[in-house]
Amino acid sequence: MCIFCKIVDGEIPSNKVLENEKFLAFHDINPAAPIHILVIPKEHIESFQEADSQTIAEMTPFIQELCSKIGLDKNGYRLITNIGEDGGQEVKHLHIHVLGGGKLIWKHYQESDPHKNI
Ligand code: AMP
Ligand code: ZN
Repeated sequence: MCIFCKIVDGEIPSNKVLENEKFLAFHDINPAAPIHILVIPKEHIESFQEADSQTIAEMTPFIQELCSKIGLDKNGYRLITNIGEDGGQEVKHLHIHVLGGGKLIWKHYQESDPHKNI
């Protein structure tokens, strides 16, 4: 069972922020911003690439509710989902990173120039 499935099952503790029957939001253990929350489906889906449109659609109001609840809706936030090896996905269970709580930098190409490598 993957680490996020264990969090869903309560085998591994997490700092939960919001939950419904299909989704769970909890604080990232190694935050990359003042607020860094992960949103996952309770069902094991490997990544965005394997997700069905209904799951993604249903995540939308859940994330919006989460961001309103913690006040991120006022100044904004960033959603990221890493996919596969090139995307830097470490945990193979779909998760959306919710980042905020301060002005975020935008730097995804530190080691490669996207204009040269396309
Ligand atoms: P990714 O690189 O997109 O797969 O992101 C995985 C994220 O999961 C990283 O930001 C980790 O800090 C986070 N993470 C790993 N294990 C845990 C855990 N037990 N509780 C909370 N966050 C975790
Ligand atoms: Zn899983």
